[in-house]
Amino acid sequence: MNLPLNIRNAMVARVKILSGLNITERRVPQDGRIKMRVGANKSVDFRVSTLPLLHGEGIVLRILDKSSLNVDLTMLGFEPETFAMLKRCLARPQGLLLVTGPTGSGKTVTLYSALNSLNREDIKILTAEDPVEFNFRGICQVNVNTEVGMTFPAALKAFLRQDPDIIMVGEIRDIDTAEIAMKAAMTGHLVFSTLHTNDAPSSVSRMIDIGIPPYLLAGSLTMVLAQRLGRRLCKNCKTVIHHEPDDLLAAGFREEELEDLVTYSAVGCKECNGLGYKGRVGFFELLEVTEEVAKAIAAEVPEDQLYKIAIKEGMIPLRRAALMKVAQGITSLEEALRRTVVREESLPAYLVNPEVEEYEDGDVIIQEGNKDNDFFKLTRGRIAVLKSGKKIAEITEPGEYFGEMAAMSGEPRFASIVSVGRCAVTRYPGYKLLELIEKYPDVAKKMFRTLVTRLQKTDRMIVKLASNGRPRPKVMRQAN
Ligand SMILES: [Zn+2]
Repeated sequence: MNLPLNIRNAMVARVKILSGLNITERRVPQDGRIKMRVGANKSVDFRVSTLPLLHGEGIVLRILDKSSLNVDLTMLGFEPETFAMLKRCLARPQGLLLVTGPTGSGKTVTLYSALNSLNREDIKILTAEDPVEFNFRGICQVNVNTEVGMTFPAALKAFLRQDPDIIMVGEIRDIDTAEIAMKAAMTGHLVFSTLHTNDAPSSVSRMIDIGIPPYLLAGSLTMVLAQRLGRRLCKNCKTVIHHEPDDLLAAGFREEELEDLVTYSAVGCKECNGLGYKGRVGFFELLEVTEEVAKAIAAEVPEDQLYKIAIKEGMIPLRRAALMKVAQGITSLEEALRRTVVREESLPAYLVNPEVEEYEDGDVIIQEGNKDNDFFKLTRGRIAVLKSGKKIAEITEPGEYFGEMAAMSGEPRFASIVSVGRCAVTRYPGYKLLELIEKYPDVAKKMFRTLVTRLQKTDRMIVKLASNGRPRPKVMRQAN
């Protein structure tokens, strides 16, 4: 809606009055809230924020609709395995439980849902929030107010004298808050909080950066849950869409998954206001601090190693969690790619985005006798293998590797590789071969399979040549 300019001041003043703000103060930002009754027994909260702009004031209203607040843990989109881990963590008598993700990733709802699932008459729950967004029966909530000295650390200190069972502190930003939270977690309390990090393993590094000694963290951290929200495809109008296998593999799907994979895309209909999406679903990466993980934290292993240990212990990485929702038809590949990233350490750039090269008919890709050692994968077209100018083989299967012999042996190129018609190949740096075999067995496996197939072919050829060239030795019967 484009409103006439002359109502600007009146409207800004009206919103500011409704939200209890100072209407004469136009030079500094202000925060307030409006509670509005809609119908008989429904009320909607608005979080109001003003910002002095060059030409007047900017106002943003954030709608907090309690009726759409889903504090049922089972409805957030946890995969069964992850949910089992989460329940295990929530059942522990004490420890620090962290939820992490960027603003708008649904951390608050997850925390509230977790608290709600533990909310019983005989359990005392205290929360310090900045500000309290939703009010819950049976939970004592405290608004943090830095201006009067009611900071997170101050609230936490007071909490410990109130004999709670469960504490939630809105966010851990500094060593003071972190230290008291840790102390509470080690003295018989379940402590929930949030951090601003990208994924679960990096929260461990963040806590150590803040100043918590690794051995202490290892002893008191129960879990880190990293999350993102993706839009749910509208059930009414989603349609099957075909993605190129290469795109699916690049997104992180495994080759063996492609055959049965059905993906959907957003269309738009009346049900979803033409958006193609309706509602949202969480993608969760849960790092449970098992004995192995605790050992790794205490030993201060590098982050990418911790990541691998966590995966061995059952953590499903964020991208993987998002892809599972794609495979279930709940969200689209687009959403998964938009909300999550393939962790850089898990796949290096030369594997995620290898250089693609195009060749014309007769172009030489590999020159016999040269000492370069890059290796390649055929993505489109055909190539011929030439030895001293004579064609000895042809590679026609997309996905087949070639040129890896030189990378393995370090010898000069044994034969030339020439494009037959147009072809496209991806190039991999030869000096990375050992790293690839060591760290990315999935990729290496494919390469070795190609290699073995080729060797078998050669083997058969040699056997055939040997049997054709020489007459078969006759079985002589020896006379006695
Ligand atoms: Zn729809």
